[in-house]
Amino acid sequence: MVDGAYTETLEALLRRFDDARQNGVYGYDRVHYYDGGAHDFHVVVGAVVHGDEVGSLPAVVALVEGLNAGDLQYGGRLSVFLGNPEASAANTRFLKADLNRVFIDEPPACHEGDRAQELKPILANADVFLDLHQTILDTDRAFYIFPFDTEGWRWARAIGGAQTWVTRRATESFSAGTCCADEYVRLHGKPGLTLELGPKGFSAAAEARAATAIAQLLRVADAAGADPAAVDALAEGAPDLEFVQTTWRQSFDDPHMRLRPGLINFQHVTAGETISAKGTPEICVPDDGMVLFPKYPPYTASGKVVEPRPGDIVNFVQPLDVHPAQAWT
Ligand SMILES: [Zn+2]
Repeated sequence: MVDGAYTETLEALLRRFDDARQNGVYGYDRVHYYDGGAHDFHVVVGAVVHGDEVGSLPAVVALVEGLNAGDLQYGGRLSVFLGNPEASAANTRFLKADLNRVFIDEPPACHEGDRAQELKPILANADVFLDLHQTILDTDRAFYIFPFDTEGWRWARAIGGAQTWVTRRATESFSAGTCCADEYVRLHGKPGLTLELGPKGFSAAAEARAATAIAQLLRVADAAGADPAAVDALAEGAPDLEFVQTTWRQSFDDPHMRLRPGLINFQHVTAGETISAKGTPEICVPDDGMVLFPKYPPYTASGKVVEPRPGDIVNFVQPLDVHPAQAWT
């Protein structure tokens, strides 16, 4: 279901992006390429890789317009792309395949597989990549989510943008046989950061958070363009993040599994607490912690999940008791 106000807002933003974008270097057209001429450092910013996560779009459009007008300054190179605006128009996460899983060697032959191929050359040339996402359900905070590495830590800390980082060991792939956009950049040896701005959709909060993160990203990148060691100093001058890791996932292995209503991201739960709906297969959390990515897919009248169901029905995160810089590097 796509409502009229959403479509009107989206179409106006896409029109402004298309009017403002300058792109003589890429085969894909929904990307703005900018060269500030003072240094070579290449920042890449991604928006709407998941189509219905549109909250960063107003900030991204303002960025492109602001650079064109000279209201914003950046000395290096910048590419800003819209990952899946076709899915944005349908107000869905994707049309045929999740774009943020198919940055692989042989993507599926479909809209998102083709798009991944168009985006790869942009990502492969990034010196740093910030991918702006939003969560499906409500969340009490913005957060970074990507595996820990020292470079990514420096950048996330220097940028700010969120206080929490949902992280994991760099050796643990997100999911076997898939590759996210940020992961693709890390495979090329450069920091790739995913920032979840808050719950999906247009909001003043998402716009402000995206605009602040982008502005700070460009400031740090200008410093890095002049002196790569500057990122370290900027990171050390900023507060550190709080780290949480996924310690348990409930796989969606029974079609009758269903969560109790009302769970949101980072909701605190206690050991043994039942988080399944009454009369459905019991799901209890193993320890004190917080739920993440609770899923409420559609169900049939007989209580079976409508396929294709998500891989996990819920994740569970806990704070790391040792700093990942000590534990994992
Ligand atoms: Zn997303």
